[in-house]
Amino acid sequence: MLYMDWTIILLLPGLLLGLWAQYRVKSAYAKYGKIGTARGLTAEQVSHDLLKRDGNAGVAIQPTEGELTDNYDPLANILHLSQGVYGQSSIAAIGIAAHECGHAMQKQHDYGPLKLRSAFVPVVNIGSNLYFPIFLLGLIFSWQPLITVGIICFSLTLVFSLITLPVEFNASHRALAMLSDGGYVTEEELGGVRAVLSAAAMTYVAAAIGSLLQLLRLLLLSRNRRS
Ligand SMILES: [Zn+2]
Repeated sequence: MLYMDWTIILLLPGLLLGLWAQYRVKSAYAKYGKIGTARGLTAEQVSHDLLKRDGNAGVAIQPTEGELTDNYDPLANILHLSQGVYGQSSIAAIGIAAHECGHAMQKQHDYGPLKLRSAFVPVVNIGSNLYFPIFLLGLIFSWQPLITVGIICFSLTLVFSLITLPVEFNASHRALAMLSDGGYVTEEELGGVRAVLSAAAMTYVAAAIGSLLQLLRLLLLSRNRRS
């Protein structure tokens, strides 16, 4: 019954926004993944350069499987670059690698929101897995404290997706500045990098909005039960 109630409609805008954001990432990646930069350096070379200039030579750069699976692991201090990025010199590859270098710089310079985000990861993993069973049991047994605990667990997921926003926007901001200042891309190429990175940022905005709507839904379900 819970899955069929009308409040599920609330999740729809978040879902559509997420799909639209993913479509934009894919199309920007497809477009700028085919256009090389005038400088011709690979994303791996650019990453080495950027990290060295930042005095952050201790970061390991490794290729990783999959498409758009690029990430920076702050615990292991490893930059993982996907196959379409690692040895490639496209505008998209350079932009994505520079964004991940931006995360490595955040760690290097003790950027507060990144620290907060990392500290939140274990808590959020537990909260996001447990909130729904807890909430559901609360509804089934009509026991408000359990419902409240479920909502609190989910709120952690929302807080996490909100903390992620400054971390992501800041990494892209650093990437654009580094690529432009270092002369790795031309002014025109920088426009392509910006298109790829802002499309990627939109997926995080969509996730945050999706979480916000889910919280709203849980609160409504909780209120409906009481009235
Ligand atoms: Zn990122």
